[in-house]
Amino acid sequence: MPADDGAPTTTAQGRTFTGIGVGRGGAVGPVVLAHAAPRVPPGEPSPDDPEAAKEKVAKGFADVAANLRARADTAAEAGVTALADILRATAQMAEDPALLEEIGTLIDAGTGPAHAVEQVVDQFAQMFLAAGGYLAERVTDLRSVRDRVVARVLGVAEPGIRPLSEPSVIVAEDLSPADTAGLDLANIAAIVTRMGGPTSHTAIIAAQLGIPCVVRAEGVGALVDGDLVAVDAAHGTVTKDPPRELRESIERRVALLGDLAADDAPAATADGVAVQLLANIGTREDADRAAPAAVDGVGLFRTEVLFLERSAAPTVEEQAEVYTHVLEAFDDRKVVVRTLDAGADKPLAFATLPDEENPALGVRGYRLVRRDPGLLDTQLAALAEARTRSGRSPWVMAPMIATAGEAAEFAERARSHGVETVGVMIEIPAAALRAREILDVVDFVSLGTNDLTQYTMATDRLRGELADLLDIWQPAVLDLVATTAMAGVEAGKPVGVCGESAGDPVMALVLHGLGVTSLSMSVSSVPVVRFALRQHTADQCRMIAEAARSASDAVQARAAALALVSGEVREALGL
Ligand code: PEP
Ligand code: MG
Repeated sequence: MPADDGAPTTTAQGRTFTGIGVGRGGAVGPVVLAHAAPRVPPGEPSPDDPEAAKEKVAKGFADVAANLRARADTAAEAGVTALADILRATAQMAEDPALLEEIGTLIDAGTGPAHAVEQVVDQFAQMFLAAGGYLAERVTDLRSVRDRVVARVLGVAEPGIRPLSEPSVIVAEDLSPADTAGLDLANIAAIVTRMGGPTSHTAIIAAQLGIPCVVRAEGVGALVDGDLVAVDAAHGTVTKDPPRELRESIERRVALLGDLAADDAPAATADGVAVQLLANIGTREDADRAAPAAVDGVGLFRTEVLFLERSAAPTVEEQAEVYTHVLEAFDDRKVVVRTLDAGADKPLAFATLPDEENPALGVRGYRLVRRDPGLLDTQLAALAEARTRSGRSPWVMAPMIATAGEAAEFAERARSHGVETVGVMIEIPAAALRAREILDVVDFVSLGTNDLTQYTMATDRLRGELADLLDIWQPAVLDLVATTAMAGVEAGKPVGVCGESAGDPVMALVLHGLGVTSLSMSVSSVPVVRFALRQHTADQCRMIAEAARSASDAVQARAAALALVSGEVREALGL
């Protein structure tokens, strides 16, 4: 749901702020505001002793890095590995010698130390923003390091959240990993941020921890400590002084979500048509978390996570170790490994060009093989090694395939490394339109609906303000999904979906109705999708899909589908 214009809706009892919800949960509790960052005084004098000032700054960075590492260890011990990884990466940024060197130069030239820290970190942040994608999303982390160091240099209290004495709703501009690391999880009822987005680390961590969260909630700066609010992630709303009916409906939904999470029956429609529900993972820790869940395996292993924040590609041995771990974790269940998908929103220092004008249309995904075939061969060799070690045979697919020729080339390469089940992702409209030809040369395809939507609608997937266009419910996108699914039915080969859309329970019904055979999503979405499927027959799913495709725009498509969804599902999931 796109963020509103910042003007909250006023109801008889409360004001409702709208943003983007993460998950389908909710909570009611008092607001606790996160403390703001320190302000650097405008008239900060030049240091009398530049060497002493530089030492103070260096100590500030070192202390902050040490603190982050200690918190990372605590998070890792508590099993919150995504947080631990982010904290370690942030600590690494705080120890970047280039930062200290540039700050030192400014201090030598007479700039006050707090100003020097602010100025240089902001320059780095601009560089990260210009690089886009993963680096741009780390800017909040970099600024949190800046604020903590500035607080130390100025001798004032660190920004953050006060100790919590009861379950509370944290309201912040945005939360840095350091903020989230310090949270007293037992007392966090929900998180609300004015900034961020569905892929910012606040959203990722909240999803991993199962904390209801609303990001990009415009206008919540008006809330103060102690305000009572209801946070409804399913609707992306935050309501001050919530009416009783809203509180009760949230409580009912939260109780139901708890019951659904315990349901491990095989996923199927009401008339018994089996549907494969799979997990999206990016790391070995994700695999450990997903393996005990009631999923049929992994539908998307985003291997590029192994390559991020490195100056060179991981070796065959390093990769083989991780792939073996993941294959063994899922034992005889299916594991679909995607080969490296670098470029555009996932830039890699050693693999992608920094100066491409339109990186999303450039040398990304499978196209990297044109410039550096060794990257793919190393990865395929590592997968072959993992297969030997684990005795399990992964399904392997390539991202960003545009033509049947590319699909055939990839299939030949993968098979020459012993891969038995080869597939490609359908993320480019050209590939969707020619899916039948592509399926002649591979064993399966998987629709990457995030990118398929971006390319069909010619809309950058990172641009929040174009969210109405960047919508899987656009009938043109649904047409391409349908074309691909029909090609799969004709060829008698599997067609999965592994974009975020598969985790939306209503869209999952549409996708099944269109003929998609498996749905891969973040593990936390599996219970609600299983529940929605079980309440509808395969024929009802087809009717829901048809209704959506017959609509003339995205809003009408979703409304038309929703109108045919069972009342029980709508009520239970707050749809
Ligand atoms: C997609 O594009 O839908 C997809 C699953 O790949 P990613 O989000 O990693 O680009
Ligand atoms: Mg993609």
